[in-house]
Amino acid sequence: MDRIKDAIRTIPDYPKPGIMFRDVTTLLGDAGAFRAAVDAMVQPHAGKKIDKVAGIEARGFILGGAVAHQLSVGFVPVRKKGKLPWQTIGQSYELEYGVDEVEIHVDAVEKGERVLVVDDLIATGGTAEAAILLLRQAGAEVVGCSFVIDLPELGGARRLEKLGVKVASLVAFE
Ligand code: IMP
Repeated sequence: MDRIKDAIRTIPDYPKPGIMFRDVTTLLGDAGAFRAAVDAMVQPHAGKKIDKVAGIEARGFILGGAVAHQLSVGFVPVRKKGKLPWQTIGQSYELEYGVDEVEIHVDAVEKGERVLVVDDLIATGGTAEAAILLLRQAGAEVVGCSFVIDLPELGGARRLEKLGVKVASLVAFE
């Protein structure tokens, strides 16, 4: 996991003062670290039946697409409101200031399909929670979540586990 952690760049004071932004573009650009991360995101869910991977915009598309390829299953983009071209269903969630909404196409999953949710990072868990509730609203069963990075002090993993979802992450930052 050192290899993965070392490949993540930290940018102080981005996007605003006091925030330490964990940047996975450096990991994605490192072939070995990228492959190791994708393998390690799949591994905790080995043996489970998974029908689809849902990736959260935007870095979750890159990682989730690779995880879906690895599992030989389809991919569902979970997008910010207003970006998808067909009929959608949405789920709103609270931000530090205000609300946001994620959407999927109405036909993105079939009832009973078993879905793995993927994103680069979990902080408060609000975004991933909205994705889980959205997929459930569409009739899917969320069988787990995989992230590269957890910020454990923000309690996101506990929040998702309260929903009964297994949460896996590869590295933690304070
Ligand atoms: P949460 O909803 O508070 O868990 O925030 C997670 C969402 O914000 C994910 O979609 C992340 O991509 C994004 N995010 C928050 N902080 C960072 C960061 O330091 N680096 C990269 N993405 C971040």
